Amino acid sequence: MSEFYRKLIENNKKWVESKLSNNPDYFVRLSKSQNPPLLWIGCSDSRVPANEIIGAEPGEVFVHRNIANMVVHSDMNMLSVLDYAVNILKVKHVIVCGHYGCGGVKAAMSNDSVGIIDNWIRHIKDVYRFHKEELDAIEDENERFNRFIELNVTEQVYDLAKTSIVQTAWKNDQELHIHGWVYGLKSGYITDLKVNLSSNEDLDEVYQLKL
Ligand code: ZN
Repeated sequence: MSEFYRKLIENNKKWVESKLSNNPDYFVRLSKSQNPPLLWIGCSDSRVPANEIIGAEPGEVFVHRNIANMVVHSDMNMLSVLDYAVNILKVKHVIVCGHYGCGGVKAAMSNDSVGIIDNWIRHIKDVYRFHKEELDAIEDENERFNRFIELNVTEQVYDLAKTSIVQTAWKNDQELHIHGWVYGLKSGYITDLKVNLSSNEDLDEVYQLKL
């Protein structure tokens, strides 16, 4: 068995001990319920660990991660997480957090086939198509890549707002803010894209559901 694998259980024991040394009731208290104020929709990339980069403790963030932090309306996994977070946990904030250097977005910029994931990445290609004029006008490839990442996050924020789940919450005057962030792999800092939505009137008319 590899050293890396063997260490995992050992690390877990050390982590439990350190938590208990600060508070002997730590796990007893946590096990009773969860009341996180935040749903995080992020990329699966191993370098963007949700809790760690925002200094959040267990119990504070409900998390959904997939390749390139996508909000795909036929994804039952995403819909179920969103429904539970909004309607049961009553989170007040949803953050879509992308990251510069995202491999999924990079793949969407190219014409290379990378297997079954091509079908997932196609959703990101749609974002390119919507913003083709702006993106094609950026000559520097890295700058274009960065902008594509930001636009992808922004589109996912809007896609969240288009769901019946979010629109229903807003119609019922439930407090629910949706934000778009991009994490910098090279700096560790987050950039807030300031695409904060809090009403379905922020959507194009065709998406506004009469609920
Ligand atoms: Zn990524």
